[in-house]
Amino acid sequence: MSIKRISRLTQGLSYLLKGQSVHDWSEQVTSSLLIQSVQHQLPVYFNKQLLALRRIEKIVYNSQLFEHGKLTIDKDNFVIHINPVSKGRKNKKRFVIAHEIAHTFLYDISTWPPTPHIKHSISVNDIEWFCDYLARSLLIPRQSIENIVSKSAKPGSDDFSLRLLRDLSEVCKLYWKIVARRLVEDLSLWKCVLLQFELLYLKKDPNKQYTFPSWRLVWHTKSPETEGDLFIPYGRFDSGIKKYPRVTGKLECVLYDIIDRAESNCYINMQIPSNVFVSSALGNLKSFIISILKKSELRADIVVNVAANRDMFKSQFHYLPNSKILLCIGLEQ
Ligand SMILES: [Zn+2]
Repeated sequence: MSIKRISRLTQGLSYLLKGQSVHDWSEQVTSSLLIQSVQHQLPVYFNKQLLALRRIEKIVYNSQLFEHGKLTIDKDNFVIHINPVSKGRKNKKRFVIAHEIAHTFLYDISTWPPTPHIKHSISVNDIEWFCDYLARSLLIPRQSIENIVSKSAKPGSDDFSLRLLRDLSEVCKLYWKIVARRLVEDLSLWKCVLLQFELLYLKKDPNKQYTFPSWRLVWHTKSPETEGDLFIPYGRFDSGIKKYPRVTGKLECVLYDIIDRAESNCYINMQIPSNVFVSSALGNLKSFIISILKKSELRADIVVNVAANRDMFKSQFHYLPNSKILLCIGLEQ
């Protein structure tokens, strides 16, 4: 979440926000949509009332689409078009639909055809970010997720783990990354950085042969508290080539080793200064983390929160698609 983006949206959507913040407005309109469509528990469904309230007539599959979804203005109502690619992936489809519903908020729908609320030019990226935020607010209502998280135990137990992330994804019927973004980035309920590494040699790239496991950072989300303190060169361009921080070695073994040394759940409490990730992220994961700790002059008493024990780790490893791993580094509160 960038402050610049929020200020651009605040300006561009001033007609709509009427003095409210982008976040408060989003949480409020999605919450009232859920109340009006008589939905008080998770998962949120796109029931008739909800669609009618946003003047959506139907949701159709459209194989002509290049994008995941699209909103069109029909004679009397909106129509949501979904790319059939998302067909077999139920949870993916849910987010695409919610995102398209979000687009309807950018129109005054009291008259037809609807008139756009946007009076100033706003970039497509900003609009798409805004609709993603609205979609997450709709499918993971703040109140519901706060209740679930507050009922969990203290940090150090399952309330801050991949297992809970998996459980919440099932409750919300959403892909885990969506839930992670909501927990970490939107609401800061988990004050942490989630790093997702991908095993490179699993990629079917005929031009590249990897003879040893190699991991690269492919995705991350971080709580707003880390703004300015942490820089992750995710997909950073270097001499025109997109490069990712990479670690080599058997990640699984290294993580087992770290987990075995911890008595129970392991959590790291640290702030990572921005210069740490800028330099390099080569070597095996353990040395990578140790080097981070050395550079940032932090005590390396507890290192990584991956899972509480081998079994749990295994099940999570199995659960995460394509053998991807979430490495969760918590930050000081
Ligand atoms: Zn969109």
